[in-house]
Parts: sequence; structure tokens; C-alpha cells
Amino acid sequence: MSPTAVPPSPVLSLPALNAAGEDAFVALLDGVYEHSPWIARRAFAARPAEGFASLAALKHALATVVREAALDEQLGLIRAHPELAGKAMIAKSLTAESTHEQRTAGLTACTPEEFARLQQLNADYNARFGWPFILAVRGPRGDGLSRQQIIDTFARRLNAHPDIERAECLRNIHRIAEIRLNDKFGVEPQLGNQVWDWAESLARFSDPGFAENGQLTVLYLTPAHRAVAAQLADWMRECGFDEVGIDAVGNVVGVYHGEDHGQPGEAPRLLTGSHYDTVRNGGKYDGRLGILVPMACVRELHRAGRRLKHGIEVVGFSEEEGQRYKATFLGSSALVGRFDPAWLDQADADGVVLRDLMRDAGLPATMDAIEALRRDPARYLGFVEVHIEQGPVLNELDLPLGIVTSINGSIRYVGEVRGLASHAGTTPMDRRRDAAAAVAELILYVEDRAGAVPEVVGTVGQLQVPNGSINVIPGRCRFSLDLRATTDAARDALDADVRARLAQICERRGLSFTLERTEAAAAAPSDAHWQSRWERAVNALGLPVHRMPSGAGHDAMKLHQAMPQAMLFQRGLNLGISHNPLEAISNDDTELCVRAFQALLDDL
Ligand SMILES: [Zn+2]
Repeated sequence: MSPTAVPPSPVLSLPALNAAGEDAFVALLDGVYEHSPWIARRAFAARPAEGFASLAALKHALATVVREAALDEQLGLIRAHPELAGKAMIAKSLTAESTHEQRTAGLTACTPEEFARLQQLNADYNARFGWPFILAVRGPRGDGLSRQQIIDTFARRLNAHPDIERAECLRNIHRIAEIRLNDKFGVEPQLGNQVWDWAESLARFSDPGFAENGQLTVLYLTPAHRAVAAQLADWMRECGFDEVGIDAVGNVVGVYHGEDHGQPGEAPRLLTGSHYDTVRNGGKYDGRLGILVPMACVRELHRAGRRLKHGIEVVGFSEEEGQRYKATFLGSSALVGRFDPAWLDQADADGVVLRDLMRDAGLPATMDAIEALRRDPARYLGFVEVHIEQGPVLNELDLPLGIVTSINGSIRYVGEVRGLASHAGTTPMDRRRDAAAAVAELILYVEDRAGAVPEVVGTVGQLQVPNGSINVIPGRCRFSLDLRATTDAARDALDADVRARLAQICERRGLSFTLERTEAAAAAPSDAHWQSRWERAVNALGLPVHRMPSGAGHDAMKLHQAMPQAMLFQRGLNLGISHNPLEAISNDDTELCVRAFQALLDDL
């Protein structure tokens, strides 16, 4: 054994930890949080009477101690960490755990250039923030980031706001602690690893123009898209699904029969799934997680030779993002009989008509074939969907999983305010008809109005002064408006207020406006029974239940039109960023997600 390796210690068990007194408890968790025994001590004081229900519960309790600690204590914890590839590493004065981690990441084998770059980054980072850069170098899969990934992350985070960066350091400390705890407890998140590896492997297929740059883009029915479908179908067969196929709109459908398959009065199936297309330069988990997690569950059932009372139907929806055609939710629309025949005549940006594209892909491209995909709700228990959160909420709360209460309804507009383009120097301030100033006023109103109640959000994401110039008062201002709410009533109230205010602003300023509604989607509240099934499943893992609305639309919104539905969210790393290559999930969170799905299946 090399002198720097972590000595093998006996595997710790939860009953042993739960039976320990305070000092023994703190000693058993020694080294999990660098030089900070106060965290274990407080977690001990706050432990539940019956002890920690699971390793996940222990991890959450420790993270909660840190989140509730005073700012100087949090900074003390951050400063207790060594610099990456820093002086302590060179002098071999790191803790055994840190030495092991920095070595596994290959930091002890840096080239002179990499080493110099890291020293410069360390110096710049310390000058900017006043604490050392913290990164869980074993990464989201637990098997180590590359030196290039480490350097890229370091450089990126150097530009963050200090408050955000402090929080990101703490989250990396929790990830480091999580991996150290796994080592202590001899735990390996094998189901999470499987899903993570599947997602990584799927990401090797990407459309031309993006693939060359290492970017992930999979638009409807491109060769990469069809390769992803074929790969999913292959894996489904390997997992032990009884029926696997690709349907008339490119959805990949796998069925694992229930115990009474083929008998009269066969029990209804559970329908689940999500989409495998991506946005341009998107992430690896948006959509795909919701296909791969139930696949892992079926694989485990098949391996154990188990049949459930109910069959499970997993659908990889071919299209959800609306990137190539103006046909968002194309895949799931077909299952609820809402595929719009006019979509077949649409052309993409290159003039490729959808009907021709489908035919070239070997799909029938007829409405008869598409209408045959419509599911009879009587044959289904309901629809559940797992998805990454695509937002910062779970990440901030140090929670791996969240329960969706409702998918927000939305209304979108494109608008234009018209005033008078006149000379910026000669027009006095009280004679102006400034279209952009009016829209600015509207934006501030939207921010105020939406911020005043918890269940709505409002955004002006596009702003344009056509033919604007530096010395001309804006005569026209175009803008977009995106309003969302957990209920249709809240959405409509926000909508009415915003429209009234726009009219008022234009009236007062002597301007005119147009407002064209481009989209309206009803809110899709989760079915109460299915939502509580997810809650029980998350509870069974020893985790607290956190309920939240989904700000983004999902396939479940479409299935909502035919059957009861409820969604489970998994935390995204990197501040929960999504529709972005930085989108990330950890193997441990994914393990919990698979286990929650298994618990839901056992609860049927
Ligand atoms: Zn998605």
C-alpha cells in the first residue's frame, strides 16, 4: 500500500452509528467534514429519537447543520479546506481523505503548465473571495473529474458573485462529505451509476454542427435522434422488457408485463416516461432521466424474476422541446389524440416538410397511424414522470428530490409599443413618445406584480428597438411576455393585470401598442393520490418531502389531458442550470431517484 492511500477502515453501519453516544458519534464521522467536528456534534444533538432512518437522512441532517450555521462558521468550514494542488499537497500535509481525492483526480500528476495554471487560479480566486476554491474533484459520478474539467470549472467559478460562490463551495463540501460517507459505509450507488452511465453513453449521439464541438443537440428525426431511439430500444430489450418498439411518431415504447398479462380483465398499466430529444447545445439529463430511471427499475425487477400486479409501460417521447418544428410535445400529443394534422405540412428552417422527414425515417406519416397511438385511459392507472428540476430550488435546500404539485400554466405574447422616433437632442423630456421607456415601465410592473404572490412568475425575455440608434428616441419597442402560474386562476389574474397596466402606461404616455397571444397552456395540477404516492416513496428513503410547482412544461402536461399524473423532480447540480451543457446530476441523487421509483412501484 502506498503511504498516501487512505487506510482501509472497518465498514460503518447505521445501527452502530445510531447506537453511539455523542463522542463516539463524532469520532465515527471524523474526517467527513474537513477539520469541523462541530457539524457531527450538532447533527447528533438534532438526531431523531429513533436514530437516522437512512444514510440519505444522515447526509441531509449534516447538510442542514451547515445550512443553518452562522456565516462565520460556514466560512470557517470553507477555509478549513486545502487549496487544490496547493502548497499543502506539495508538502504532503493534507488529511488522508484530501490526499486520496487530489491523487485520484490526478492533481499530483499535473504537467508543469497545468500546475502553473492552477497556482494562478488559486491566487486569483483567493484574492477575489478570500477563501480557497472548493471542488468535489471526485465529481458527479464519484470516479474523478479530469484535470481539464477541474481547470475549466475553476476558471468559470472565478467569475461568480461571492454569495453564489460561497453557496457553491458549501454544496461541493457536502458532495465531498457524501462520497466520504459512502466510503465509510461501504456504499456504492450502483443503480445511480447505471442511469448516469446510460445518459453519458446516449450523449455520444449529437447532430452535425454540434457534435464536432462536443455539444449535445438531438433534434427530431435526425440521424443522431434515430440512433438514440435505437439505442434505447436495445437497452430496453437487455433490461428484460417484454415488448419493445418504436411507434409511428418515433416514440420508443417498452412494456414490462404485469402478473396477469393476457388474462381477461388484465390489470391496468402504469404509464411513465419522458423525452429523449434535446434543445440546441443542451444537457444530458433533461428528459432522458425520466426514461432511464424506470428502465433501471424494470431491469431490477427482471433480474429478481419479479412481476408486479400492474404492467409498466415506459415511453421515450421523441419530441418535447419544439426545436425543429412548431410542434412542441409532438411525441406525447400522439398518446392523447392531440397530434395536430397541420403539423405534417410544416417545414423546418431548411425547408424539410415533416411528412417527408417521417417517411424518410421509415415512419408511416399518416394520421391513421398516428391516431392509432392514442391510449385508452381505462387501460392505465395513470402517468408518472421523473425529471431534473431545471431550477435552483432543491439545490439551495440541499434536497435530492422534490414533489411536483402542479405544472404551471402559461400565456405568452409578443408585443410592440409604438411612439415617435425623434431627435434625442432637440426633443424636450416632456414632449417625448418613448416606446422603450414604456416597455421598461411594463417590465418593472411585471416584476413587482409577479413578485407579490408566490404562485406566479413573469418575464420579458426579448426586447428590441427596431432601427434604434444612439441619438434617436425609440419610436418602436418589441418585446416578449411569458406569464406562468400554478393555477389557471392565478395566471389569468396576472394576465389581466399586466394587460391593463400596459394599456394604462401607453395611454398616459400617448403611445399605441399591439399584443399578440402566441401560446396558452392550462396548468396541470398533480393528481392528489399520485402525488401522495411520490411523497410516501420519498419518505420511505428517510428524506423530507418538499412540494414545489414545476415552472417548466413537461410531457406530463399532455398526459394530464387523458389521465391522472404526478411528477418527481431530481436536483440538478451547478445551481440547477438546464438547457445548457453545464446541466449535471450526481450518481447518489440518481440512486435515490431510482429507489423512490421502486418504492412507488411497490406501493401500487
Ligand atoms: Zn425536459
